[in-house]
Amino acid sequence: MDFLNNLFGKKHPVATTSNKEIPAVIFNPITSEAVVKAGTLLFKCPTCSNKVSVTMRQIDPIIGVSVVCTRCKNISHVPGIYKTEPKPAGMSITGSIRVPITKFPNLYFEHPLIQSLIKSGQSDLLFDYGLWAFCGACYHQFPARVLWAFSIADRAGGFVFNAQTPDSARDMNALRDGHCSHCQHQNLIVVVTEIPDYVRNVIASKSK
Ligand SMILES: [Zn+2]
Ligand SMILES: [Zn+2]
Repeated sequence: MDFLNNLFGKKHPVATTSNKEIPAVIFNPITSEAVVKAGTLLFKCPTCSNKVSVTMRQIDPIIGVSVVCTRCKNISHVPGIYKTEPKPAGMSITGSIRVPITKFPNLYFEHPLIQSLIKSGQSDLLFDYGLWAFCGACYHQFPARVLWAFSIADRAGGFVFNAQTPDSARDMNALRDGHCSHCQHQNLIVVVTEIPDYVRNVIASKSK
């Protein structure tokens, strides 16, 4: 019977829709404790409270910047508005959550911010802003479009992804196999944030 198992026993695993291990509500940790000193933004790591620094020059006024904490190795996203306003009202610096690659599709569909974008038909905005995921070991960044396709494919149990580049095809295949495309590590560091109006306006003007 071994040859039969070899022939038929290696089916691609079918995606399960059970979310029992995922908490009901997923939130990224946030902080708004930040100061600017001598051209450098200093803020409290939302995960471990370590002091993290990034030069103001490195902050893009629209996209912002993602910064690695040297102590806990997590990644925080600083919104672009921090470049001009060190204490922007209602805007926080967002920390990351670590998730096994195999569980990422659950996070995608369960995260309240992504859920509300899907419900209002705006999840395409995430291709440009609001969803960042990196390998937990080598920090390779996975494009949001690939993360979306991976999540849909996982839920559907199969899905044809028209990769736009060989790199995104390689990323997609690696995610489907549960590891990083660059180092075989199996966890992602994920940041999900709200999309500020000044970013929405830029995305809207680009697509006209
Ligand atoms: Zn930290
Ligand atoms: Zn990696």
